[in-house]
Amino acid sequence: MKYDAIIIGAGHNGLVCAAYLAKSGKKVCVVERRSVLGGSAVTEEIFPGCKVSRAAYVNSLFRPEIIQDLKLKQYGLEFLSRRPASFSPFPNHQYLILGNGLDEDQREIAKFSAKDADRYPKYETMLNSIVQYVEPLWKKPPPSPTSKKLSDLWELASLGMKTRRSGNELIQKMVEMFTLSAGDLLDRWFESDELKATLATDGVIGAMAGPYTPGTAYVLLHHVFGETNGMRGVWAYVRGGMGALSDSIASACRDLGVEILLESGVDKISINKRATGIILSDSRELSAKCVISSADPHVTFLRLLDESVLPSDFRDKIDQMDFKSATAKMNLHLSELPDFTALPGKNAEIQHHGTIHLSPTMDFVEQAYDDAKYGRPSSHPMIEATIPSTVDDTLAPKGEHVMGIFCQYAPYNLKEGNWDSEKTIFANRIIDDFTEYAPNFRNSIIDYELLTPPDIEKIFGLTGGNIFHGAMTPHQLFFMRPALGWADHRTPIKGLYLCGSGSHPGGGVTGAPGRNAAEMVLRDIR
Ligand SMILES: Cc1cc2nc3c(=O)[nH]c(=O)nc-3n(C[C@H](O)[C@H](O)[C@H](O)COP(=O)(O)OP(=O)(O)OC[C@H]3O[C@@H](n4cnc5c(N)ncnc54)[C@H](O)[C@@H]3O)c2cc1C
Repeated sequence: MKYDAIIIGAGHNGLVCAAYLAKSGKKVCVVERRSVLGGSAVTEEIFPGCKVSRAAYVNSLFRPEIIQDLKLKQYGLEFLSRRPASFSPFPNHQYLILGNGLDEDQREIAKFSAKDADRYPKYETMLNSIVQYVEPLWKKPPPSPTSKKLSDLWELASLGMKTRRSGNELIQKMVEMFTLSAGDLLDRWFESDELKATLATDGVIGAMAGPYTPGTAYVLLHHVFGETNGMRGVWAYVRGGMGALSDSIASACRDLGVEILLESGVDKISINKRATGIILSDSRELSAKCVISSADPHVTFLRLLDESVLPSDFRDKIDQMDFKSATAKMNLHLSELPDFTALPGKNAEIQHHGTIHLSPTMDFVEQAYDDAKYGRPSSHPMIEATIPSTVDDTLAPKGEHVMGIFCQYAPYNLKEGNWDSEKTIFANRIIDDFTEYAPNFRNSIIDYELLTPPDIEKIFGLTGGNIFHGAMTPHQLFFMRPALGWADHRTPIKGLYLCGSGSHPGGGVTGAPGRNAAEMVLRDIR
């Protein structure tokens, strides 16, 4: 047999998994359907002379231990911190800037509410204390409450003891975090709509949910797990775009002897009592001791396997997974920077460096979701924009810029019409709404592409266009991801593993599922 392991998909998790296996002396081959590697963490030249983070656009979640283990900085990985982190202009021309240090943040918040400014440090402390409890759980598969194995029972008991020791207040806060909506959580802390609307966007990113949908508080928490260069909760651009992160892992992989085959889509996983290899769409067959899939659970189990090989209850669980999405991504090439009425200026200034939030109130975001709930693209979508070329001069020709707009809500299924007819209308709506805040915006656009959920599904292979390989609300997390009893990267088929975001601890550019899966595989194969 030529390979110890074949990995389906050269997204960042597939590559991380490959690198760890190869580091342990395994012979590994990664097969990717696209002509570029990185999956959703990719840089593409979609506009001539521009490097575009076509899907994911900011990093904080990628595990620092992986950077160290794989020496990724030696392979060119560089994070560019953003200071400040965010700029939220409002229709009355006021604005809120966050991420400039606690004192400065409090001064900014006090423009809207002195009480909120006072509470903000306590809110941050509360988030940090939960992160400190939960983060170690990202580093290994969760124990299964259905397992009778001594090791699982021991892990469950340890978790129970750890929870008990963490004290009443933290337990209360954690229960709130895992059950409340982001909106209800923020209402308990703050009164200013401007602050809450800025913070709430993290709770709905990638979710087909509004800020008052239960479970979105955890989505908010998920976005504060990370760090940049040792600074907790700080988000950064990757020099060269998000693909540079994937490229650095791929370089480490190649040095460790991993073969990476691009334009090699898998049609079927071969099963002979156990997973024995893959059949590519051009009919080539490759065999290995095990197959590890970084494609999402729907693709892996319902498309790449024959129906008869999986237990029907497991198939049903995967079939019932929530892959709903209402995320659209617009990528733009600009001739000049947006000149905001609230804070004018066309040179790269503080209003351009971080994330630009155009979602002025909680009601605005909730109403944007209401449209999607009934199958309509939002009449005024929630907009989160970034202009990485303001801090990275490798991305666009001098004087020009690349911009990404992460936008919700654009439901996958439309009640009336279809995305072929609605796409240009929706794109114009985004551009018009942005131009309300920065009057030069429309005329500064040299070119753009809008990716709707069906486009995201087609290009990146993400079922339903769901950016996280399945919703990140609590019913699909921890020992429930992807299905109860199967959260340790193993599957009902011997020799077949899952290593992508559809497994614990879920989506985002973390590398954690890839690393944890490699550990599990190494326990099983000799
Ligand atoms: C628009 C968008 C914006 C996002 N923004 C951010 C962000 O700013 N920050 C962040 O942390 N996260 C962000 N995310 C989420 C994050 O990018 C993903 O959760 C993460 O990159 C998924 O990584 P993965 O390796 O698990 O899977 P993927 O990146 O999905 O990789 C899976 C790979 O498998 C390949 N594949 C699938 N089927 C087959 C097959 N049959 N044969 C061969 N190959 C196959 C795919 O082509 C893909 O390359 C965003 C995602 C999207 C789509």
